Amino acid sequence: MTEMTEERRLFAEFLRRRGLKTTRERTALFDEIFSTHRHFDADDLVARMRERDRKVSRATVYRTLELLHACGLVNRVRLSDEKYRYERMRVGEHHDHLICTGCHRVFEFVEPRIEELQEAVCTRYRFRPSSHSHQIWGLCEGCAAEKEKAAG
Ligand SMILES: [Zn+2]
Ligand SMILES: [Zn+2]
Repeated sequence: MTEMTEERRLFAEFLRRRGLKTTRERTALFDEIFSTHRHFDADDLVARMRERDRKVSRATVYRTLELLHACGLVNRVRLSDEKYRYERMRVGEHHDHLICTGCHRVFEFVEPRIEELQEAVCTRYRFRPSSHSHQIWGLCEGCAAEKEKAAG
């Protein structure tokens, strides 16, 4: 049995408010997503569920990721126009991302000065932030080196 974490309670409440049921599939997906911290795409998640002999349709995976994202429990990082990578978000946890457009690796960073500046901007505009996501796209060290080599 999985313990009743804060996140699990939030998700159950979110579903209830929308008149949706906490189905076995949704719970299994939630458990898989929250079992480790990694950046994954929907196909990875489908494969992980299959490995565990849990049959969940791709449509359910997408729908559940959408719900978890709407509820703030899953963060979404855009790799390209149609590619997303997801990660679980624990309550009170926050970090930002560097995204390599070469190898699609995602790096996490925490920079208190950026956080402070964002707060200062909100204060200046009398804006009450609920969340933010800071993403920087580019090439990682390895991909940049390869590109330089290719350019000769
Ligand atoms: Zn790279
Ligand atoms: Zn992350």
